[in-house]
Amino acid sequence: MARYTGPVCKLCRREGMKLFLKGSRCESPKCAVTRREVVPGGQKGRRGRGRASEWSKRFRETMKVKRFYGVLEKQFRRYVGEATRTKGSTGEALLRLMETRLDNTVLRLGFAVSRFQARQLIRHGHILVNGHKTNIPSYSVSSGDSIKPMGKEGAARLVKWGLEESKGKTVPAWLERVEGEAPEGKVLRMPARDEISAEVNEQLIVEFCSR
Ligand code: SF4
Repeated sequence: MARYTGPVCKLCRREGMKLFLKGSRCESPKCAVTRREVVPGGQKGRRGRGRASEWSKRFRETMKVKRFYGVLEKQFRRYVGEATRTKGSTGEALLRLMETRLDNTVLRLGFAVSRFQARQLIRHGHILVNGHKTNIPSYSVSSGDSIKPMGKEGAARLVKWGLEESKGKTVPAWLERVEGEAPEGKVLRMPARDEISAEVNEQLIVEFCSR
């Protein structure tokens, strides 16, 4: 499956916000956004951002959400189509579809330090959903699903690292985590809008997608 493999801090600098793509480094003073490094394109880029048109605001908001969840264009269009067919707010449905991806859920449960690591665990078959090996990072979790890392040595070490890094952080209320020898997560319900981790304006995204 295609994925972005270029420098990730550049993406945060471009969007002017933390996209949390590098695990614990994102919380540290070394983070490029915390250090207020200039956007790619230097002075030219900065001037450009000051004159943002309505179109470019919508475009940037759409890029933010795609980069935050690591979703490429084709898959994003599929989510937009699915959200449009859902009753209620399209923007909220779109964000919920991305928030409930398996890779994001593994990250929110603290079983990985970054979305990249969560995907690696899933792709290599180290995550069980309801007792079945599931190696598709975009798999959509549902209420009642159980998510369990397999106890293989390398994967267990990564999960332990994730759990140590997430100490002190609360698991979102739509999820539940049981720690111990065999950590396990449970999806209690679908996330409400204010429990969705991406800080974006979904209205601008919907406007951009409905051009
Ligand atoms: Fe983004 Fe993390 Fe890099 Fe900061 S450290 S710029 S949040 S990827």
